[in-house]
Amino acid sequence: MRSLVDKSLRRDQLYINGQWCDAQRGGVYPVINPADGTEVGKVANAGVDDARRAIDAATAALAEWQQRSAKERSNVLHAWFSLVMENREDLALLLTLEQGKPLQEAKAEITYGASYIEWFAEEAKRIYGDVIAPPSADKRLLTLKQPVGVVAAITPWNFPNAMLARKMAPALAAGCTVVAKPAGATPLSALALAVLAERAGVPPGVINIVTSTDAAAIGKEFTTHPQVRKITFTGSTAVGKELSQQAARGVKKVTMELGGNAPFIVFSDADLDAAVAGAIASKFRNAGQTCVCANRFYVQAEIYDQFAQKLQQAISQLRIGNGVEPDVDIGPLINQAAVEKVEQLVADAVARGARVVIGGARTKAHSAFYLPTLLIEVPSDAALCEEEIFGPVAALIKFDTEQEAIALANASEYGLAGYFYTQNPSRIWRVAEQLECGMVAINDGVLSNEMAPFGGIKQSGMGREGSRYGLDDYLNIKYLCQGSLE
Ligand code: ADP
Repeated sequence: MRSLVDKSLRRDQLYINGQWCDAQRGGVYPVINPADGTEVGKVANAGVDDARRAIDAATAALAEWQQRSAKERSNVLHAWFSLVMENREDLALLLTLEQGKPLQEAKAEITYGASYIEWFAEEAKRIYGDVIAPPSADKRLLTLKQPVGVVAAITPWNFPNAMLARKMAPALAAGCTVVAKPAGATPLSALALAVLAERAGVPPGVINIVTSTDAAAIGKEFTTHPQVRKITFTGSTAVGKELSQQAARGVKKVTMELGGNAPFIVFSDADLDAAVAGAIASKFRNAGQTCVCANRFYVQAEIYDQFAQKLQQAISQLRIGNGVEPDVDIGPLINQAAVEKVEQLVADAVARGARVVIGGARTKAHSAFYLPTLLIEVPSDAALCEEEIFGPVAALIKFDTEQEAIALANASEYGLAGYFYTQNPSRIWRVAEQLECGMVAINDGVLSNEMAPFGGIKQSGMGREGSRYGLDDYLNIKYLCQGSLE
């Protein structure tokens, strides 16, 4: 197997105050390659005392970092962006080893993550206050935008590089400092990002990374420590609610990117080949383990069979295997529990009347690889219509009218992404305006990029990442009122 060109990107210690250090209590834990169950290595297992040290370091680093000019912070971020892109191959390999996704997808993730660093390097210079018309002639009113302070970031394993880059870059652009806990399963990508940040000139303490299996304890420290002013979290709705509650006690700002349950509607007037291509991109990327993955396919009756046939054909072309091998489309799921959940959801749908057209099982017993799957005649009371599948399973549900499709799509407590295919311009507006989602893809299967606001409504979260809105959550507005003017 290929090894890293730059071996110094592979770290196994915590990164606190610009130092690589062991956990204070000396603990370590193994990082497992989901493709074959082998140990990729061991990393430090931080405890609450380490989290506290990281917060202290971030607090101490804040004054100097926020006093730097926007242009200086921008330059550091630009340097970091360049280093990430120069080391893309190595970062992708580390990512595949700990997460499982095919190398091509890992490379795409590195580019995607880097695009946020580049974007916020640019946006750092566009933080504007206002001069406001006063109510009387003796006053002048202004606003300043100031960094919120220490930001705590907790990120998931499905995009171990990009989710962290998408949080750290705007924080640094705004003048905040960061303590981050990546998902326990995927610490290596986060540590490698810190190596490159340090090389780019990010000062000690401005970024701190604690890797740990004790997520609840570290999360509690982050949400309750008085110096932490903002929590930014990407992960499950259940954990997001818990963190929001904890943060509320200290009235801390929160940004929550939580679970999704994306509807994917195919109307009878759609370009079916485009819809199939979009379905494959949206459903099977990262083996179905993205929060914007299509979760429920609603297909209009007139074209239901034709769409199912074409989708089956496309699914049959997907190649499953270890992500480090060439030409692989679908890697393993992250762990056994993830596969078991997919098995249960498929079994539930089948018990309620769904039919397996292709796939519907692991590649072999105990394998972490679940075959790309197509289910048809799925009843809308199947559990997978309510829960995120987080696996390579496309579930097709039939509908008759536009209003029915919209009602079905909106019958979810989630509201992250939604997709639909139609060639009717009036329908495009009607459906786009009525879907209860933070993001809508129209005749497209991939919608996320650094220039656009990423985020959800309902129980999919609050706040937006990326775009010109992506700095708002890292800034406080301070209003200045100058009076007694003559
Ligand atoms: P998933 O594993 O489905 O992506 P989770 O919400 O379980 O979603 O995990 C997302 C992140 O939240 C990970 O970094 C994980 O370690 C962390 N996490 C899990 N449980 C807690 C918790 N109780 N408190 C704080 N963080 C948690």
